[in-house]
Amino acid sequence: TRILANRYEIVKKLGKGNFGTAYLCKDLRSKIADTDSEYELKVLKEISVGDLQPDETVDAVREARVLSKLDHPSIVKFHDSFIDGESFCIVTEYCEGGDLDCKINECVKNKQEIDPKLIMDWFVQLLLAVHYMHQRRVLHRDLKTRNIFLRQNMIKIGDFGISRILMGTTDLASTFTGTPYYMSPEVLKHEGYNSKSDIWSIGCILYEMCTLNHAFDGKSLMAVMYKIVEGEVPKLPEKFSAELNNVLKLMLSKDPEKRPCATDLLKIPLIKNHIAKLS
Ligand code: ADP
Ligand code: MG
Repeated sequence: TRILANRYEIVKKLGKGNFGTAYLCKDLRSKIADTDSEYELKVLKEISVGDLQPDETVDAVREARVLSKLDHPSIVKFHDSFIDGESFCIVTEYCEGGDLDCKINECVKNKQEIDPKLIMDWFVQLLLAVHYMHQRRVLHRDLKTRNIFLRQNMIKIGDFGISRILMGTTDLASTFTGTPYYMSPEVLKHEGYNSKSDIWSIGCILYEMCTLNHAFDGKSLMAVMYKIVEGEVPKLPEKFSAELNNVLKLMLSKDPEKRPCATDLLKIPLIKNHIAKLS
């Protein structure tokens, strides 16, 4: 068995992403109360930093410490980060429900839909989490269904700020080898990433939860990018309210200035009323 930082015992590999490999691990220093042998399960993400300058690595660790202070029920808890040999390791909460991308693919395969009530729960949880982050001037920059997790049927945003940590360390081009589906027009036009770009991505995710299809899709990367920059805002199916359709339309405004921020969205009656019903 492999143990990192004298503390995290690797249980199994969860998968490989753009930036590194994610493992399920046991935290040997966190016994679950009232049990003799159970340790808390966490996720350890190992990122190779072989090519980094020492000061860049220090920056990454410092940034990770900032993220570890974020504490919100709809954000994957950031527990720890450290350097182990050639690797930069990040330890976070484990979400046993897997990611939203898997959940959506499962629904497609089984010809199921996501319950509209659940969509609203998850959508407002996403907005509350993004609002919390934006108030602290932290952007996500890589919101997509693969970075959104489920735990006890609640949604949690993961990989928050990780792309920002890594942005300075990997070249920008490599971050664009990822999926373009959730990228906003301003990002594609190289007009800069801002908090409104996160809002665009949440709009795309809302559409995808409602229809199980990408908001902007096409046969090629260019076709997808063209639709994002020039295409019409897609409409939700009949069974969703005009109010929700209008929220989607606002979130997918091409011009970031016209797009609402999280605070604006939380004031919309449909959303405000749903939040009141949550608790
Ligand atoms: P990417 O986001 O590019 O897919 P990641 O390294 O973030 O790559 O994730 C790799 C795999 O590990 C994915 O299948 C993802 O669902 C899973 N995973 C990552 N973080 C968690 C977590 N906190 N809880 C459960 N599964 C996770
Ligand atoms: Mg991820």
